[in-house]
Amino acid sequence: MAFSERVKLSAKHKSAHRCCICHRAFVEVHHITPQEHGGSDELDNAAPLCASCHDLYGGNGDKRKTIRQIRDRWWKTIEERDRRINRSLSLGDWLKIEEDTSHQNKLMSKSVALYHVVFEDDDFETSAQILIDLIRDSQKSNPGQARRLYLDIDGHRNSKGGFDHDMYELQVNFVTEFLSQWLSSAFTPLASIDFNHAQRNDPPENLNITDGIGQKDINAAIDADLEAIWVADKARWIYLK
Ligand SMILES: [Zn+2]
Repeated sequence: MAFSERVKLSAKHKSAHRCCICHRAFVEVHHITPQEHGGSDELDNAAPLCASCHDLYGGNGDKRKTIRQIRDRWWKTIEERDRRINRSLSLGDWLKIEEDTSHQNKLMSKSVALYHVVFEDDDFETSAQILIDLIRDSQKSNPGQARRLYLDIDGHRNSKGGFDHDMYELQVNFVTEFLSQWLSSAFTPLASIDFNHAQRNDPPENLNITDGIGQKDINAAIDADLEAIWVADKARWIYLK
């Protein structure tokens, strides 16, 4: 047997016609567990993959559970995006999805990749809460494994083309100064950082957001048109361009 057209269409639709691992377009729907190993033709066993990701990971039985998790996370992202998007926009307007190789890293190493896209109308609180949830979920599913956070941000630009206050705060203060305790590395539009500390594995249940240090310095640096600033007590660069 093979997937029915209905299952294939449904799987592709849920993925926004993107590869659920790298997010490139042009996908085929593949069996996660192959038919010869008893894999079903139901939606649950269907993963839209590009040719390259299918070649790289499709035949590897150890990766099946991970592929399913990545697929579910991607389906959820698209579902949430879909829910928020104004339906009157054309597909091309809302399908601005960057190619992403982070999930491939997850499949190639022992670390867990946490991927999140902040949408245009998400505020700081919402985004911060989602990030905490991601960390908490990953600690439950993969206790103690190194967590790599990949953060993309749609919109949230000021008139100068830089990030608005919320997204500066999210990237610089929240992720690199606070959330970093429970991460091994973070990749945001502003910075790529390998944290040189031991990752904590006790993510907070409740989030208490307070202003971190540095926002004034960062604003001043942006006004001065600097490319980067050195945060001495954190021993790291923060890129501003
Ligand atoms: Zn792919």
